[in-house]
Amino acid sequence: MNAPVLVINCGSSSIKYALIDSDPQAPRLAGLAERLGSRDARLKGKNSAGESFTQPLPNADHAEALIAILKRLENRVPAAIGHRIVHGGEHFTQAALIDDSVIATIESIAALAPLHNPAHLAGIAATQKVFPGLPQVAVFDTAFHQTLPPRAYRYALPEALYTEHRIRRYGFHGTSHAYVSKRAGELSQRGNGGWLTAHLGNGCSTSAIWNNQSQDTSMGLTPLEGLVMGTRSGDVDPGLHAHLHRQLGWSLDEIDDVLNKQSGLLGLSGLTNDMREVEEQALSGHKGSKLALDVFCYRIAKSLAALSCALPTLDGVIFTGGIGENSPIVRREVIALLPHFGFNMDEAANEATIRGKEGKLDHTGHSGPEVWVIPTDEEGRIAMETRHCVETH
Ligand code: ADP
Repeated sequence: MNAPVLVINCGSSSIKYALIDSDPQAPRLAGLAERLGSRDARLKGKNSAGESFTQPLPNADHAEALIAILKRLENRVPAAIGHRIVHGGEHFTQAALIDDSVIATIESIAALAPLHNPAHLAGIAATQKVFPGLPQVAVFDTAFHQTLPPRAYRYALPEALYTEHRIRRYGFHGTSHAYVSKRAGELSQRGNGGWLTAHLGNGCSTSAIWNNQSQDTSMGLTPLEGLVMGTRSGDVDPGLHAHLHRQLGWSLDEIDDVLNKQSGLLGLSGLTNDMREVEEQALSGHKGSKLALDVFCYRIAKSLAALSCALPTLDGVIFTGGIGENSPIVRREVIALLPHFGFNMDEAANEATIRGKEGKLDHTGHSGPEVWVIPTDEEGRIAMETRHCVETH
């Protein structure tokens, strides 16, 4: 299948798209339809010459936005559509060709991702209307982590909560962890051994990967578990919810809102969820930002150390995501907190590896576990899985 794949990520009021050729070097047409359903709805993107455009789409719904996107594909006809789907529950261990039964299954697990899965389904329905006859594939954020063993995915809760309600750890960012660990296996002489991955963007998660299979990961039932993120708290004492309810009278919705939207870097710094700004403020002496940076890095190091228990041997750590790819400060702090792992990072290489550069940060001749920066390519991975799924059906 040589024709391009259209990768779609549908939110409740947005559609992110990328048209991806089978040749990874070919330029991508990509953009974002946002504020759908409102007067300010618009489509932003880049054409193949790299020029930006913004097109107003007042009151457009998902289907109208897709028609506008179709017109921006410069007559390149996609062979298939790959949809990013946040939650596949335990049903999907790999990408699935969308049919009525796949749609019904995604619907049946909507309770596990109430903000995301219904929006993805609306996107699938609109895409089927605008592109009838094109094969459509669902690629799940959770699928890569379905190889976790029970010791990693079970919570220590009564068994019925798992058997009857599927309450367990699922993990997310699967396409990113899968892509960067596979890429490290290709780039490093060590191949597909034991890799720890740190995807650090607005959402953050770590993963332990052995021989291309996820063994453990920091996110759980929802993407709130684990690391400190832009506005998400990550791990807190599970007793916190009851405490806040009893002592402050907060409702479950209020608690959920605080933990998801007002915590993390934003909560600790009191200023911002944006790591660039946190770093600038920390360097100029702002105490909250300094604390935010300290807690953020410490929690990543602690998570990597914990996840190393899932690997028989450690070949290296991989940083990715907006922060992992661009912040020498975060990488330096995290590696400094793991002196017993035997990393030997070259600070000059660390400083020089930003803005989409891929590379190993070690001093030459170092034989211990490696430190890599690998820019993630979730859309490329979704396109690759979509192709594979269509070709094997
Ligand atoms: P998303 O998870 O939404 O895809 P990204 O992967 O783009 O987000 O990551 C966004 C984060 O990356 C923000 O916190 C942003 O401040 C951070 N970031 C981007 N560039 C830099 C940089 N040069 N230094 C530090 N942090 C950066």
